[in-house]
Amino acid sequence: MNDLAAVSAREDKPEAFDAERVRRDFPILQQQVNGQPLVYLDNAATTQKPECVIEAISDYYRHDNSNVHRGAHTLADRATAAFEGARRKVADFIHAASPEQVIWTRGTTEAINLVASSWGHSELRPGDRILVSAMEHHSNIVPWQIVASHTGARVEAIPVDSSGTLDIQAFEAMLDGKVRMVAIGHVSNALGTVNPVVEIVRMAHAVGARVLVDGAQAVGHWQVDVQSLDCDFYVFSSHKMFGPTGIGVLYGRRELLDAMPPYQGGGEMIESVSFAGTTFNKLPYKFEAGTPDIAGVIGLGAAVDYLKHLDRAGAARHEQALLEYAQKKAQAVPGLRVIGTSGHKVSVLSFVLEGGHPADLGMLLDQQGVAVRTGNHCAQPIMDQFGIPGTVRASFSFYNTFDDVDRLFAALEKARQFLV
Ligand code: PMP
Repeated sequence: MNDLAAVSAREDKPEAFDAERVRRDFPILQQQVNGQPLVYLDNAATTQKPECVIEAISDYYRHDNSNVHRGAHTLADRATAAFEGARRKVADFIHAASPEQVIWTRGTTEAINLVASSWGHSELRPGDRILVSAMEHHSNIVPWQIVASHTGARVEAIPVDSSGTLDIQAFEAMLDGKVRMVAIGHVSNALGTVNPVVEIVRMAHAVGARVLVDGAQAVGHWQVDVQSLDCDFYVFSSHKMFGPTGIGVLYGRRELLDAMPPYQGGGEMIESVSFAGTTFNKLPYKFEAGTPDIAGVIGLGAAVDYLKHLDRAGAARHEQALLEYAQKKAQAVPGLRVIGTSGHKVSVLSFVLEGGHPADLGMLLDQQGVAVRTGNHCAQPIMDQFGIPGTVRASFSFYNTFDDVDRLFAALEKARQFLV
């Protein structure tokens, strides 16, 4: 077999992703909870952190801790180099055209609030329309409602069908020249639905609207390329992609970010300050008032390094296989109804069980060492549409195993007996 044939044979039959080996990178997974080995299925809420991320943060505090950009000493230089190095890593990771288009925020929520407030206050006029999907997380609804209430714009929901799929025809019918912003989740945290973002961007741009993509639930599952999506803004949180909490990213198209006014005032975001008038710093610092979460940024950089060395295509196939296996098992459980059955889903199995309140089920599963999320998942409108107060949500990552899925359903069976 020549080299090329060998490569294509490997691609035809990809090696199985070794979840057992990858699990060993995550110290938290090696523990017992309530007398049982932990089964962590709450990855949509937050992912666990590999040793290298924990080490990067601890190393920074042990050896390099200093404020960035301002100091005239070695530690400040090291901290600044690591901090700006992480920005370049993240820019490269999402394929942004330049690092200045990567703005640090506290997370997805703050990034959306930044755009809604800064872009929204300067761009929106009475009668303008903002479209969000009916399955959005509250953080991609409420900031738009707030700016709408100040500007006279309106927030409208793009319908979602009974499988949890966005109604693209209805979306098309809603589009007109008054639509200024389409704010859409790449993946629904409550249902797992993957939205057709490329198509949405194309359709929105055709009427002159801007598109913000909430990538909180996407970046941990596959490689995102903001330029090929052609979106105007892309936002995500480090803690959902194996990095620390308290740090996230706003990516934006340069000309939009350049035109947007500052979101917060303070140190770092200025060029010069006087009582006669203040001028603002260039990108990205214009949007980064105050001392940032330096350790968080460095930890996120380490998470990016970790993901770059991971077989992401293999990881995605493994996660998909876990989801399909779990969905099949769910069909065999009497009284179980899966919420969110779209043909294009990732990672999330959301369900209700007859006779069991989600919160009680969550507790009974936890007693058996199985961690899931219960409730409305900050997506009350879509729960209302399904006529339920909330669900039990198991969400998978590449370090989960088929054994974890078996443990979930064994624990559910026990919980069910307890309920009847
Ligand atoms: N959007 C989606 C789709 C999410 O899943 C989440 C987190 N559950 C958020 C936004 C908010 O993210 P954060 O709390 O990290 O700001």
